[in-house]
Amino acid sequence: MNHPLATEIVVVGAGMAAQRFVEQLRQRAGDDVRVTVIGDEGLRPYDRTRLRELFLGGSADDLPLPFDAFEDDRVELVVDDRVLHIDRRAKTVRTRSRRLHRYDTLVLATGASAGRVAVEGAGLPGCFSYRTVEDAEALRAFVGARASELERDLRGVVVGGGPIGLEAAGALQAIGVDATVVQYADRLMEAQLDGTAGSIVKRHLQARGIAVRTGTRVTRLDPDESGVVTAIEFQDGSFQRVDVVVFTVGLRARDELARNAGIAVHPYGGIVIDDACRTSDPAVLAIGEVASLDGRRFGLVAPAREMADVAVRRILGHEARFAGFDESAAITLAGVDVASFGDALARTPDAVDVLYADPVAGVYRKLVLAGDAHTLLGGILVGDASAYPALHTLVGARLEADPSSYVLPSRG
Ligand SMILES: Cc1cc2nc3c(=O)[nH]c(=O)nc-3n(C[C@H](O)[C@H](O)[C@H](O)COP(=O)(O)OP(=O)(O)OC[C@H]3O[C@@H](n4cnc5c(N)ncnc54)[C@H](O)[C@@H]3O)c2cc1C
Repeated sequence: MNHPLATEIVVVGAGMAAQRFVEQLRQRAGDDVRVTVIGDEGLRPYDRTRLRELFLGGSADDLPLPFDAFEDDRVELVVDDRVLHIDRRAKTVRTRSRRLHRYDTLVLATGASAGRVAVEGAGLPGCFSYRTVEDAEALRAFVGARASELERDLRGVVVGGGPIGLEAAGALQAIGVDATVVQYADRLMEAQLDGTAGSIVKRHLQARGIAVRTGTRVTRLDPDESGVVTAIEFQDGSFQRVDVVVFTVGLRARDELARNAGIAVHPYGGIVIDDACRTSDPAVLAIGEVASLDGRRFGLVAPAREMADVAVRRILGHEARFAGFDESAAITLAGVDVASFGDALARTPDAVDVLYADPVAGVYRKLVLAGDAHTLLGGILVGDASAYPALHTLVGARLEADPSSYVLPSRG
């Protein structure tokens, strides 16, 4: 594998950004490049966005990314090993298994970790994160064993009402757990949805048997006599019985390696990058969810892939810039179609809304327009997101037709 003249690239993290990086590098680089990807999960990179399939009878083998990205003599994939230290002077990284890897260019693609709220009892058995295959398998195994032990269906609470929280609630329900979503903000998905859309999503979930408590903070978790979580306390002093808790709040950039190596990190977390994905050390790039551009982090696959593309082009000496990315997404959460794109929350001065809401049918369509009432800035779709691909591409453009024709139900 070692080639005396080769440029050695080491990628830390074998997740979705790393996978894209390798795919692109393979296509664009010549024979004079070697890349070693080191990941601390015991698996090859997989599609994290499909984690819920593990609750529908699937296994980790059902979440593949194009694996042949690693079938290349120039590429080495190391799994189940964690990089513990970067020596920037020697240009080496050291792993848990005490291996040293030398680099000319280091790419940090360490993603984010699912945190837990800092409340008493958050580490009790029965409390889980929802980020990795290992998390999902542990949750599934716990629910199976505990339901047999108690000889009844379990009661679950998901702490966090963002997209991942709603997905986790759907996952719990799929394995027979009675799920409640607890959200500190006054509405579900507060970063993506306005109040009306949030309440329509809440009605959808309730109709599917998922309970929702908004404007509520968890203050404590209590164990039963065997030490397993059994009750959850809320800010207003009320209690709820619970057998399993999933935390989907407190996502943190895994920037500790960079921080310990003296590479600049943002005060709110994330490795500071410029628009070429360069960190404060010219030999080190950062891509994906761990990177912070102008104080913003990007928790979606599309920007992670875009950063990977920019990093590859830059390493190969080409011009490329990551200009930032809007957080647009269309997703099905616990059976509900939801899309949010562009300036969905109408933060642009003078923006105007054109909307249609039918809470009974569970449909909401909103377009946010510039002050000229014709230029599309963004929007929200709930209940039917089929117009999302077309509308998303029109952001920034003047709408040809009357804006209301995009949101009103078609007649006949
Ligand atoms: C349940 C769920 C559903 C999601 N759904 C969507 C969706 O529908 N659409 C969407 O766009 N996005 C979705 N996302 C977000 C998306 O998965 C992430 O934005 C994306 O995975 C980011 O890629 P990444 O490579 O930066 O991080 P990751 O994919 O997290 O990869 C980082 C990897 O680095 C490893 N690592 C960290 N530190 C070290 C170290 N020191 N040494 C070795 N390895 C290390 C981590 O274990 C991990 O394997 C979802 C996320 C989750 C959890």
